[in-house]
Amino acid sequence: MTVALPERVDVAIVGAGIIGMSTAWALARRGLRVAVFEKGTIAGEQSSRNWGWIRTVGRDHAELPLSLHANGLWREIQQAENVGYRQTGLAYLAASEAEMARHAVWLERAQALGVTARLIGAADLPEILSQPSPRAWAGALYSADDGVAEPTLATHAIARLAQAATCQIFERCAVRGLDQAGGKVAGVITEAGRVAADAVVLAGGAWSRLFCGNSGVSFPQLKVHASVLRTAPLETGLDLAINGGDFTCRKRLDGGYSVSQLGASYADLTPDSIRLMRQFLPAWLAERKYLKLRFGKRFFEELALPRRFPLDRETPFERQRTLDPAPTMKTIDVALAKLKQAFPAFDAATVAKAWAGFIDVTPDAIPVISGVDHVPGFFLASGFSGHGFGIGPAAGALMADLVQGHPPLVDPHPYRLARFAR
Ligand SMILES: Cc1cc2nc3c(=O)[nH]c(=O)nc-3n(C[C@H](O)[C@H](O)[C@H](O)COP(=O)(O)OP(=O)(O)OC[C@H]3O[C@@H](n4cnc5c(N)ncnc54)[C@H](O)[C@@H]3O)c2cc1C
Repeated sequence: MTVALPERVDVAIVGAGIIGMSTAWALARRGLRVAVFEKGTIAGEQSSRNWGWIRTVGRDHAELPLSLHANGLWREIQQAENVGYRQTGLAYLAASEAEMARHAVWLERAQALGVTARLIGAADLPEILSQPSPRAWAGALYSADDGVAEPTLATHAIARLAQAATCQIFERCAVRGLDQAGGKVAGVITEAGRVAADAVVLAGGAWSRLFCGNSGVSFPQLKVHASVLRTAPLETGLDLAINGGDFTCRKRLDGGYSVSQLGASYADLTPDSIRLMRQFLPAWLAERKYLKLRFGKRFFEELALPRRFPLDRETPFERQRTLDPAPTMKTIDVALAKLKQAFPAFDAATVAKAWAGFIDVTPDAIPVISGVDHVPGFFLASGFSGHGFGIGPAAGALMADLVQGHPPLVDPHPYRLARFAR
């Protein structure tokens, strides 16, 4: 391939998902020379395949400060371009009093951190549900400030904001690995040549563990397969984003709905699941209601992937430009059926498209936004565990603070890589 790469930049970013692009935007608007390298296309993987939720509700408390900060950035992005960002409100409908009690425990700590969510009793549900539901709900955990945006539009808009500052983006240009000299980062080695950089940020989504491993950095990360469908445009009167336990839905800018369920996720057993079993076992047990373990061809596909490879020839990153797994239709068909039962306004809904993505997860389901202690100049922003779209813009701003050594916008301690050190 022939691309004119810069000889030197201040910061090289690996991966043009929402995390890489948000980091680039934050750094470029502060005047740094930034280049983003993407092996496929902007937002080709998770960042175009997600539900589009921007939520505080139900989030790990460790992520809430980022989540609250992200709302301001989402408003700024929406002012620049229409990315479908709307504070539609978001509700976790509860099927039982026990579920309401669990929500109350979460809420007490969340409110102390500044979250505006509240509990809504069964009798008051019509206040937030514009459509009647024949199901007997015990109530809901609801936030009027939470909302949605269109994943693909949003990541592309952030890319344009970064480009309008000082950022260059190179698509179909994989980074094969780190260029290191004198025990620290000297730049990146891409498939089109070397680029010198003072700092490198890896925002490689589901590929970050492979990249790190080949660079001598241990990063415990696995992939979870998740499926989604969108309906054809349909008028139901429901604008609120909803998690009903066995279904989720959110209204799209194109007039349809994205529909899925938390239970539409599979943890494919791979050689890495065996290597990382001790670290991930508590998460698998805690999530067993939603996450099904399965054994199949994915095991052999990953077995065939080299874990160590030289950088002077084609690497696994060039061999697979975009992870594009087939959806598991049975789980999303169930989600649509449950949605229709819960809200008859969806009776006429038809499936326009279905897709899947690989979610990159860490053992504690909290991302890593951190410097890598033993490789000065190398930074990691990855492992967003299914929550990275909503907090993406703030995660990028935090990463930029860490790269520049500025006072961080939120306490970065929960996100450090070193928490996984044995
Ligand atoms: C089905 C599904 C539903 C979800 N729903 C939500 C939701 O509602 N709300 C929410 O907040 N989050 C959600 N998520 C999670 C969210 O999408 C992710 O956390 C977020 O998109 C992660 O962004 P990223 O930039 O880290 O990764 P990605 O978007 O996966 O981007 C990583 C990029 O790095 C590139 N790359 C990797 N290695 C290299 C290399 N060596 N050289 C060059 N490029 C490289 C890849 O090609 C890829 O484009 C969902 C995810 C899925 C799959």
